[in-house]
Amino acid sequence: MNTKRSQVLFERAKRCIPGGVNSPVRAFKAVGGNPLFIKSAKGAFLYDEDDNRYIDLINSWGPMILGHGNEMIEAAVKEAILDSLSFGAPSKREVEMGELIVEMVPSIDKVRMVNSGTEATMSAIRLARGCTGKDKFIKFEGCYHGHGDSFLIAAGSGAVTMGTPDSPGVTPGTAKDTLLAPFNDIEAVKNLFDQNKGQIAAIILEPVVGNMGCVLPLEGFLEGLRTLCDQNDALLIFDEVMTGFRLASGGAQERFGVIPDLTTLGKIIGGGMPVGAYGGKAEIMDFVSPQGPVYQAGTLSGNPVAMAAGLAMLRHLYANPTVYDQLENTSRMIAKGIESNIKKLGLDYQVTQIGSMLSLFFTNQKVIDFESAKTSDTGKFGKYFNNMLNRGVYLAPSQFETLFISTAITSEIAEQVIEANFESLKSL
Ligand SMILES: *Cc1c(COP(=O)(O)O)cnc(C)c1O
Repeated sequence: MNTKRSQVLFERAKRCIPGGVNSPVRAFKAVGGNPLFIKSAKGAFLYDEDDNRYIDLINSWGPMILGHGNEMIEAAVKEAILDSLSFGAPSKREVEMGELIVEMVPSIDKVRMVNSGTEATMSAIRLARGCTGKDKFIKFEGCYHGHGDSFLIAAGSGAVTMGTPDSPGVTPGTAKDTLLAPFNDIEAVKNLFDQNKGQIAAIILEPVVGNMGCVLPLEGFLEGLRTLCDQNDALLIFDEVMTGFRLASGGAQERFGVIPDLTTLGKIIGGGMPVGAYGGKAEIMDFVSPQGPVYQAGTLSGNPVAMAAGLAMLRHLYANPTVYDQLENTSRMIAKGIESNIKKLGLDYQVTQIGSMLSLFFTNQKVIDFESAKTSDTGKFGKYFNNMLNRGVYLAPSQFETLFISTAITSEIAEQVIEANFESLKSL
């Protein structure tokens, strides 16, 4: 495979951008090799600067759930652009977006738009602290909630891959208010509440984790957290930046029937544009300024072009629930295919899948938390990643990331993925 143009661009990029990338997860540090520079994408495929074609199993880390170059979304953006790129004043699409989110997401009565998932989670924690009057919160080892200081503690994916789970620059003062528990360990959460009586504002979690690879909640875990929050006057925050509009049109909360107090959204909500949001019960959201005292703002929040893209995306997903059946079928087919390859080759690796999220862990242990995820052989994963890339399949360049399936992945393309997986595992 000729990737000369990407190599040249990477050399230039390294001179003007730290590490040559604008987000660490795009680097190929954990898998060996250099990142590819993508020129265009259409449907299920990415095309790099050297015109190599790849089946895309990341889909921009989630947003492109309908595949690339969706005409409906692009038409909405083109139309919006004609009316100016930004107003800095309220506009109609923000109201339409708010109404649609309230309609789609079970826990949300009121919602505030922001520009990224990171902003959404930072704001949600400030709000939780502001309205409960408590300082501490619980997060789970390996869950990622964006790069806000208080979340960069055992933070999964990018941070794990880089070997710096605790970033320099996060002060001990900040870190002391972030309490950690293993995912799926309800007893550990109970103990934290006992040891920090009256001090815990909230629990935040990915209801299905994507940022240590795809890890599912065990039966009763989400319900258990709901109960503990109720007993301790703490808020339950579902970080659905990844799972929102993905596991169902109402996210993981709809799929599992557990209703959080606050929800953070991102990725799919912008249809490919930089958008995030946080929302929840009206009496909590009314603490947000200018209604209430908890300050949060954004010059470009609710940007008309971003809203146009997001609205087109969400309207489509809401009007076409069969999208989720299709995604589940394709993803299950790929997961089953990989499982059968593993068996055929006499290997003992783990496959996890729910909706359009799936992971192959290079470990023989059942993966239920960060400890078990970390038993994966990341060296093997690196080789597997490059084998897949050479066969034209673009995976997330880290063991600790979920894959994202789009509706553009037909069963024919899924077959090609399964075949590439067989050959890539065989030649490890
Ligand atoms: C991606 C992600 C974020 C951060 O979103 P950005 O838009 O990258 O800031 C937060 N939480 C979860 C669960 C995510 O997957």
